[in-house]
Amino acid sequence: MSGQVRVRFAPAPTGYMHIGNLHTALFNWLFARRQGGAMILRIEDTDELRSTSDALEVIYQGLKWIGLDWDEGPDVGGEYGPYVQSERLDIYQEYLQQLLEAGRAYECFCRPEELEERREVMRARGIPPKYDGRCAQLSEDEREDLRAEGRESCIRFRVKETGTTVIQDIIQGEVCYDNSLIGDPVIIKTSSFPTYHFACVVDDHLMQITHVIRAVEHLPNTQIHIQLQEALGLQTPQYAHLPLVLGEDRSKLSKRHGAVAVTDYQEQGFLPEAMFNFLALLGWSPGDEQEVMARERIVEQFSLAACDKSPSVFDVQKAEWMNGEYMKRMDAEQLAERLLPLLVEEGLMEPQPSAQRWQWLVQVVDLMKERTPLLTTFVTWGRYFFTGDYEYENRARQKWLNREDTPEKLEVLVERLQLLQAWDHPTIEGTVRGLAEELEVSAAKVIHPCRAAVTGTTIGPSLFHLMELLDQDDVVGRLQRTAQLVRAGELAPLPNENE
Ligand code: GLU
Repeated sequence: MSGQVRVRFAPAPTGYMHIGNLHTALFNWLFARRQGGAMILRIEDTDELRSTSDALEVIYQGLKWIGLDWDEGPDVGGEYGPYVQSERLDIYQEYLQQLLEAGRAYECFCRPEELEERREVMRARGIPPKYDGRCAQLSEDEREDLRAEGRESCIRFRVKETGTTVIQDIIQGEVCYDNSLIGDPVIIKTSSFPTYHFACVVDDHLMQITHVIRAVEHLPNTQIHIQLQEALGLQTPQYAHLPLVLGEDRSKLSKRHGAVAVTDYQEQGFLPEAMFNFLALLGWSPGDEQEVMARERIVEQFSLAACDKSPSVFDVQKAEWMNGEYMKRMDAEQLAERLLPLLVEEGLMEPQPSAQRWQWLVQVVDLMKERTPLLTTFVTWGRYFFTGDYEYENRARQKWLNREDTPEKLEVLVERLQLLQAWDHPTIEGTVRGLAEELEVSAAKVIHPCRAAVTGTTIGPSLFHLMELLDQDDVVGRLQRTAQLVRAGELAPLPNENE
């Protein structure tokens, strides 16, 4: 074996892609890139009933979304293919023969319902249920009879009954498992497909995997994998089991916690570079206070030995904070490019804006990017830039739009703004503040109702800058409309709505 590091990400193409899977993929990728090694994508579709091509597509998309690539895999090929397990069935047969000949594997005829009944008895006796080895000692004649009965069979691996299996794990340290606790696992199913354990061990060997980096849920499986390696005379790779990713209530991250599918985060408007950074810090840290770190910095500093053993918590607020940091720091033009498809989808922008309109969008983005945590919040919070068809928020109604003196203020403002020859923020600001002075009220008493009228909200970027980016007639129209609505009592607070 050459000295090159070789790691694999080995997802099962069943269902959606969990954020935990992406985390595992990322840590493999980081390690491979840090070590100048190879990243392999292997598709573990041994669950032939649940594997689908759609799920496979979702995996590709998820990996590509955060910018992970692979050196070998089903789509890019490689020296050790095929990289899809269902295309490797003959290969597993060879290794099976080796186990059968060595007496380390045997045919099992127990039916699922019989196994369940026996497990039930063990549970009732307070014994941890495991395969009881009923078929382990069958003679060839007995097997013949069972076959003649038409019984289906699977193949089990004969595990060691005594002693311990010791795992030297880069992250978890030394872990020992008592061999007497596990029963003989199935390695070839009745369908003649291999099980995960068997295919995984054979492929890790044949693909010359040096480091198996995977979720800690697989740590107990490693006991079986190491025994299979010993039985087949294979070298044991180095193991690194990544800590659990928990939800905020410290239970394992699951659908109960809301979004867990990678596509959910895409849809919610996370930037892939922020998600990359956020996931990298789940279970690993550079050893100092750094949090917002460029991809190259993370690769430079990444090490498995610095990964944490204890679980990390997927804190959604922190993820949003980080995303906001990326949005803030991103060049407005680049961010506008990311936002355009979402705005088009909402009917707020045209797919091919003119140069002038594009420049305008970049200015809007520049003004808003400091305060929007997600791409999607830009679209909802910034709606008023694109259309006069926005909601008046309850807080705006309660504080400014439900007052007798508001319509008049807005109307005087209309008169003044209509007359302006220049439509820029210093002129607008001078007008608004001048009016406040004339009325002998604080500037806030004009600024807030004006913002509530023009944007429907009480918060946002500088009012004068945002008004500058709106059309003068449009602003005047919004002020007039709002004054009328207030007079008609149509902007009273909404009684049943929580803010
Ligand atoms: N197919 C397994 C999974 O998706 C891979 C486990 C491993 O990396 O060995 O969890």
